[in-house]
Amino acid sequence: MASRELEVVHAPQLELPAPAGPLSTLLDRLIGPFRRGKTPDHQPAMGFYTDTTVCIGCKACEVACKQWNQLPADGFGWTGNSYDNTGELSATSWRHVKFVEQFADQQAPTGFPGQTHEGRWLMMSDVCKHCVAAPCQQACPTGAIIYNEFANVYIQPDICNGCAYCVAACPFGVITRSNFSGHAHKCTLCYDRQKDGLVPACAKACPTESIQFGPIDEMRERARRRMEELHGRGVAGAHLYGDAATETYAELHSFYLLVDRPEIYGLPESPFNPWLSMSGDYLRTTIAGVITLAVPLAAFLLWGG
Ligand code: SF4
Ligand code: SF4
Ligand code: SF4
Repeated sequence: MASRELEVVHAPQLELPAPAGPLSTLLDRLIGPFRRGKTPDHQPAMGFYTDTTVCIGCKACEVACKQWNQLPADGFGWTGNSYDNTGELSATSWRHVKFVEQFADQQAPTGFPGQTHEGRWLMMSDVCKHCVAAPCQQACPTGAIIYNEFANVYIQPDICNGCAYCVAACPFGVITRSNFSGHAHKCTLCYDRQKDGLVPACAKACPTESIQFGPIDEMRERARRRMEELHGRGVAGAHLYGDAATETYAELHSFYLLVDRPEIYGLPESPFNPWLSMSGDYLRTTIAGVITLAVPLAAFLLWGG
């Protein structure tokens, strides 16, 4: 265990005050949820740079995420698509290592022009992109999705009402509603670990440093240096995805170094914000809610008396 982790393990635990009596406990339970705690101090924006060129597909990141966050296994069914049996991100899989198998004869229609090679595997550890202008956060009607002090997108499950508007709004298919809790779930960027000065579990577990974590400006500089290095070594297709804003989408606080087109990795070439086209959904829900209340009320007024 690294020294910082040992320090945290041995740190004195917070002692909760003993309840003062049944009435005060009841009042505390009624009023407590509405009390505003102290707003945490603003911290430098933190995020991930994932260098897919060194990912070996070991899935240590997936396992570390499940272990740290105590997420259940999703079963062991083979998808038939690849050696990957996780399939996709879900409410219980907050990391998913994609295996993309390319045969030499498949390369011509998909790869970058002028780039030829023998068959190859592309591997990419997918996760929430922690978008700087996150459509999931914009779509959430209850304020359950927030930006925390590290500028990461964080879901507060106790405020989530399970409407799934965030699911519809995410252009990367990241966020998912749990069939068990009914709440939306996704990567927290290990908010709990960050608050203790620890590296997220997935980045810590990655044996090849494919997943790198730190202040996002530093990550961008490091990624650009690596891209130039790869260009110098003849990997012409190396490029960064999400490190900067595009015409249609904000930059990502979890961005990638790729060597083929984004679609090959299952990423949209030009992501856009679906929330901008969701006003009709809100209108339909509001109308349905009004009708649901109005019909029984009218029935009661007409025939109830
Ligand atoms: S990737 Fe999707 S779930 Fe993650 S912050 Fe962006 S919109 Fe939200
Ligand atoms: S940052 Fe934490 S929650 Fe997010 S994928 Fe990594 S281990 Fe899982
Ligand atoms: S732990 Fe690192 S090398 Fe292994 S699959 Fe995840 S990103 Fe790739």
